[in-house]
Amino acid sequence: MPSYKVAIVGAGPAGYFAAQALQNLHTDDLKFAIDMIERLPTPWGLVRSGVAPDHPKIKTVSKVFEKVANEPGFRLFANVELGTDVTIEQLQQNYDAVVIATGSALGKKLGIPGEDLPGSMSAATFVPWYNAHPDFNDEAIDLTSETAVVIGAGNVAMDVARMLALDPAELDPTDTADHAIDALKQSSVRTVVISARRGPEHAAFTSPELRELPKLEHTNVVISKFDVEAAIVRAGEAIEKDTKSNLDAMLLIADREPTSHDRTMKFQFLATPKEIKGEGRVEEVVFQKTGSDETFSIKCGLVITAIGYEATPLQGVPYEKGKVVNVDGRVKENIYVVGWAKRGPSGVIGTNKSDAAEVMKLLIEDLGTPKNSGDLVDVITHNKVVSQQHWQAINEAEIAAGEPVGKPRRKAVTREELLKLGRI
Ligand code: NAP
Repeated sequence: MPSYKVAIVGAGPAGYFAAQALQNLHTDDLKFAIDMIERLPTPWGLVRSGVAPDHPKIKTVSKVFEKVANEPGFRLFANVELGTDVTIEQLQQNYDAVVIATGSALGKKLGIPGEDLPGSMSAATFVPWYNAHPDFNDEAIDLTSETAVVIGAGNVAMDVARMLALDPAELDPTDTADHAIDALKQSSVRTVVISARRGPEHAAFTSPELRELPKLEHTNVVISKFDVEAAIVRAGEAIEKDTKSNLDAMLLIADREPTSHDRTMKFQFLATPKEIKGEGRVEEVVFQKTGSDETFSIKCGLVITAIGYEATPLQGVPYEKGKVVNVDGRVKENIYVVGWAKRGPSGVIGTNKSDAAEVMKLLIEDLGTPKNSGDLVDVITHNKVVSQQHWQAINEAEIAAGEPVGKPRRKAVTREELLKLGRI
């Protein structure tokens, strides 16, 4: 009975869906031993470090990941970094196939003057900070100004703006990092501007996200009715279903009477960022009114760009334009890629399921005679590997710590704390 060994690098949604696809293809004649390698001491990728903490339903997909992880033949090697603890060549030698599922963790840059001033950062920093990612705990997020500007019109921009604009008490029953809740409770930010370079008809938000905004209990949400009506005219009769749904949702918001809340989230359309200005730190953003020569500026002390992500280059893996170079998920020799590292940062978590399944079919087509090779356990020289059992201990400890304070979990915030919870 052929039994193949597959290494999956990256324990996020794409990695788990790739493992699940292989497990679904198990037959009496074909079996896969799957080793999942993860840089952090915790698995689940964006489900832990990306999804907004006030969206707990989206995180229930972690139950699927745990089911995959508890299938026979699956092993987790977390706290193991490709390039440091193990090389791509070692994986290629020891496994029949290697699947890269490392996502896109780098925030794209605007490329405008002032972008690197203190007070200007990417959502790729701000989001993992509030989600207790161990690499971002020490970020100093300056929340002392009255106004913050979020650049971008996608769901990440929406998450970031909501986190800044909601009443932080609403985060108490969530798994937001303790340090972020404390900082947000001290925050002076009362106006959050989401700026889009194009009109409402081109916004990348999805309508469920827009439709939940009026449910914010302590935040005024402001969209100009003039902007939405102009967008409806521009979109014309051949308008796509999703665009119509978005514009309908925006119109509902625009039609609402303003409330007396002292927190406001305001949409600014047709605003192309030109420069971030300030003496030693962010003081204002200069925009050009898209399609005209007119400029205007917004005074603010915090700018967060949410304009897309790029994959982190991996040594020994071809990389171009923010992605791993691939043809339908095939990279080279016995290397494959799935998820955002393959196709760029698009789609929802579930999109990775069909995407990974397609690539795993190709991987199986390419398989030759199973390799009779060594074990990853012998390759990794440090003794701080987080196995599935260790992770389960961490998971249970975090959930238990959350229970008395009414949270789904209380996340540990440093690698040391996480390893301690895992009894490593
Ligand atoms: P996105 O949906 O691609 O949105 C990126 C936004 O950045 C677009 O509005 C884009 O505008 C803008 N942008 C790009 N370059 C820019 C520039 N130089 N200057 C100004 N604006 C610029 O990306 P995302 O928000 O990072 O989300 C990534 C994926 O995750 C998406 O598929 C998203 O739906 C998904 N996601 C889903 C959820 C959820 O389901 N709740 C939550 C978060 C993320 P243009 O269109 O003009 O280029």
